[in-house]
Amino acid sequence: MKCTLCFCGLLFFSMMVQTQAQTAKDFADIWDKRHVSRIAPSLVRHRDLQKYLDELKKTGLKIETVGTSYGGRDIYQAEWGTGATRVFMWSQMHGDEPTATSALVDMLAFLQTSGEKSWVKELKNDLTIRVVPMLNPDGAELFQRRNLQFIDINRDARALSTPEGRLLKKLRDLWQPDIGFNLHNQNALTTVGKTNRQATISLLAVSGDPQGKFDEKHLRTKRICSVMASALETLIKGNIGRYDDAYNPRAFGDMISAWGTPVILIETGALHQKDEMYLVKLNFVAYLAALKSLVDKSEQKADAKIYDALPFNDTGNLFNFIFRRANIINLAEANATFSADVAVNAERRRTGETAPSYVQDIGDLQIYAGLDEYDARDFYLVAKNGLLKIGTSGEFLFYKKTRKIDWTAKDLEKS
Ligand SMILES: [Zn+2]
Repeated sequence: MKCTLCFCGLLFFSMMVQTQAQTAKDFADIWDKRHVSRIAPSLVRHRDLQKYLDELKKTGLKIETVGTSYGGRDIYQAEWGTGATRVFMWSQMHGDEPTATSALVDMLAFLQTSGEKSWVKELKNDLTIRVVPMLNPDGAELFQRRNLQFIDINRDARALSTPEGRLLKKLRDLWQPDIGFNLHNQNALTTVGKTNRQATISLLAVSGDPQGKFDEKHLRTKRICSVMASALETLIKGNIGRYDDAYNPRAFGDMISAWGTPVILIETGALHQKDEMYLVKLNFVAYLAALKSLVDKSEQKADAKIYDALPFNDTGNLFNFIFRRANIINLAEANATFSADVAVNAERRRTGETAPSYVQDIGDLQIYAGLDEYDARDFYLVAKNGLLKIGTSGEFLFYKKTRKIDWTAKDLEKS
């Protein structure tokens, strides 16, 4: 009899644990099965966002047009939940930084259609989440950072010259959210500290104080960043960085924090050989981990030191391509042949588009890494324009060293 009781107790306890603890892996599995964003974020135009939002509206989600861009495109805000804690999330104020827009759509779709799950019910009762996906629809249309006035909206928090910036401030001021999430993308070559590892996600608990003084609100955002970092660790260990929190009075993150809503910045980079959708999943996992921690209060117990221990972002350690020990022939200069490493970077483009590439460095580049590296010892490398120079096109012709080539030939490219 005693043994049976004991067994029941254990079973009951394990069921409790199962229903209460959602792990990062659970969130990732949910995204795998339930995500509604179907195209790569960089291909999502304003009309695609409208289609996503129309689908969400059909599920009963509250979505309003809250403003218009400089180019006259509608800007939307979705609202989910009925709770006292107000969470404000906005994405793509930089038009060519699209990952979070898709992740927010996936998050809203999941929350809206998962009311039967007890933990989602708790989120709904305790939080009200307002989401502005694609704050800069004109920039998104052109896949450019700035809006149609060519102003960087994230440097317009003080001057408020852009309709998009004015809208963001208005939405914040009217509602006074408890926490803000400012969602961006960073360069794919940003590294975790001085390592060659890509910073796939970088976090920042934004300081709202010019002197960088800490208060309870700032400490809370640090703890939430720790929660997200711990969740992401299980998926991208070693690829998480953080930004330094130097105060910028023109940036929205800093100013919204100063106005009373502590802001968390999430910057999505890239992970070599993983596509854009994987990055959407990482964002989805981070958001759910953060929101869940606000409701089950695990945020209050999280250790801010986990966030503090994340290495700062760095740049310049990593290139898109390095051709090692190439034998360089400069056709434009007689007899200019030498051996060197050549580093090339590609510009940010939409998935599927050819990204222009440029020579970044020439010489002994052993201390650096390339996402793709090629051993070019057995090849001649000829720049297509005839002279290998920093800043010129990264299009090269390669010739096996064993071949006898007439470098003066007019149709060299054909050979
Ligand atoms: Zn940005």
